[in-house]
Amino acid sequence: MSLLFISDLHLDAAYPAACAQFSAFLRGAAREAEALYILGDLFELWVGDDDDDPVRAAVCADLSALTRAGTACHIMHGNRDFLLGERFAAASGCQLLTDPVALELGDERVLLTHGDLLCREDRPYQQLRAQVRRPNWQRRFLRLPLATRRMLAGAARSGSQRHMNRLPPQIMDVSPDAVSAAMRATGARTLIHGHTHRPGIHDFQLDGRDARRIVLGAWYEQGSCLKWSNGSYELQTLARTGPE
Ligand code: MN
Repeated sequence: MSLLFISDLHLDAAYPAACAQFSAFLRGAAREAEALYILGDLFELWVGDDDDDPVRAAVCADLSALTRAGTACHIMHGNRDFLLGERFAAASGCQLLTDPVALELGDERVLLTHGDLLCREDRPYQQLRAQVRRPNWQRRFLRLPLATRRMLAGAARSGSQRHMNRLPPQIMDVSPDAVSAAMRATGARTLIHGHTHRPGIHDFQLDGRDARRIVLGAWYEQGSCLKWSNGSYELQTLARTGPE
């Protein structure tokens, strides 16, 4: 049995090569897996399940075809697509996961999270995150016309890019204390997350025992996928072969 973990695809009409690679991945490697876990930021933007953007609709159709072919698909909100809701889940066949969530893999407990919650040193971002995750804020936002929501989301993305450009690199990475606290709270010895776009496997000691943090990469320039098969992990870079 094998499971696949991906995140930070940031799919959008502006990145046609990433969209094409993801579509091919869903028709190829993903079909061989028992389940696919998408740990947030599947989409560059998601302003509501009523969005009629054709690129986003095509992604939903591809996911639906995958789940109908027998691969379960689980998806977590990222900071870009935290408004993915029940209509999206129905259209795509995906099951929405809470963030964080613990998964029992064989005899191992694994903690899955998008990763933005672990970037605790970025206080302005954490305040913004808390605000936009409130049900009241989301209800008000989702009542706005689609064009207004798209405009606001575009402005928020530009603001976030300006904010990130001003931050020192260590502030944009996860806080080691937040990682330890999350793992202790759940008893997990393995943590899998995305968000930071710094793929890698980090072995460390937590309370005198072996622990590891696996970071998934973004799909802007190439694919990134973690394959779990019978207890072992392989972090794969997926070369992009199609036209840019
Ligand atoms: Mn993210």
